[in-house]
Amino acid sequence: MSAELEFRGLFKATALGMLQPGNWYLGFRCLACHETFAVLDDITGTGEVEPMGSGIFDVDCPACGAPNRYVAGDMLVFQSATAQAGQEIDPSRT
Ligand SMILES: [Zn+2]
Repeated sequence: MSAELEFRGLFKATALGMLQPGNWYLGFRCLACHETFAVLDDITGTGEVEPMGSGIFDVDCPACGAPNRYVAGDMLVFQSATAQAGQEIDPSRT
């Protein structure tokens, strides 16, 4: 089941500084350096969210500092992947 998240209007967004490995986030891929960064926590916590609408986001890339404008349709849903740096995320066995 996926949740639709609709954005309208202009957002002055700030990239999230600290990401929890394994958590899901909404963000963008920087137009300048192509790093992916997060601007919002995924409210569903599962990645089952679909950003939509005509919202526009002004946000500075936390990696290179480039200020860019993104549209809601460019928004990425991604899981913070410290795992990419060679660290395995242990699946919880609760
Ligand atoms: Zn950048």
